[in-house]
Amino acid sequence: MSDNRRVGQVKEVTSLSNPIVKDIRALAMKKFRDQQNAFMAEGLKLVIDALDLGWTIRTLVFAKAQRGNPTVEKIAARTVAAGGLVLEASEKVLGAITRRDNPQMVVGVFQQRWAALKDIRPADGDVWIALDRVRDPGNLGTVIRTADAVGAKGVILVGETTDPFSVETVRATMGSVFAVPVARAGVEAFLAWRKGVQATFVGTHLKGSVDYRTVDYAKRPVVLVMGNEQQGLPDELAASCDALIRIPQAGRADSLNLAVATGVALYEIRRHALPVVGKD
Ligand code: SAM
Repeated sequence: MSDNRRVGQVKEVTSLSNPIVKDIRALAMKKFRDQQNAFMAEGLKLVIDALDLGWTIRTLVFAKAQRGNPTVEKIAARTVAAGGLVLEASEKVLGAITRRDNPQMVVGVFQQRWAALKDIRPADGDVWIALDRVRDPGNLGTVIRTADAVGAKGVILVGETTDPFSVETVRATMGSVFAVPVARAGVEAFLAWRKGVQATFVGTHLKGSVDYRTVDYAKRPVVLVMGNEQQGLPDELAASCDALIRIPQAGRADSLNLAVATGVALYEIRRHALPVVGKD
């Protein structure tokens, strides 16, 4: 598309009372994210990752200072080609949208995307992570990022959880939210799904009787089940697991942070699949 045509499709916005700006600002609240079935991702890298991975962009907002930046121009053209809206915003507007003093120069509004639990059929070598009632956006984002890093297939949110599409969670994923499928289910639905799935369900528990380094994770697909930050795994979920593993601890801490425990377990589960650095 020629520059002239694209420029014609860019709206300049400087006012916080602009209705499109108001709608984007409202995405800070879950109620409006759900209503609009949308969420916001900040930064050029995240927006490019999302577009490359086929996510649907609704609106691209970039700072006036970025006018003429060839990379920004390119994603603006991609946004228009995808039927999205492009806004050139003042720094004041970008600061208000991102609620930051030093806002990112580019923000994308994307359509939410959920994986359907019924379609998840773990195959050999697959690892999925089930998070029971995860509360903290930083923890959820870090788990999604770690799942991506180890090559896990996706994350299942069980029960009432924090929103994977909140600004904080998306920030903490560092873009992995676009690469890692996320499904959600109530406990009942998760337990019903569990019955039809050929996988080893590995729960993590402070009272687990099995050391996390002693399980053969390579035999079957694995679903790693992590407990809530405050209460740990409820009995119902713990009882549904094939094994309850424990990560040994020295010192005074009574438990590991949820995302740290997930990372430690995931690297052990995926040990056989991840090549030793420096060896071909
Ligand atoms: N007070 C909670 C409890 O009693 O379980 C602590 C929960 S901990 C902060 C959050 C989750 O991380 C746990 O439910 C478990 O899934 C995992 N976790 C943390 N430390 C662990 C350890 N040493 N061994 C196994 N799992 C652990």
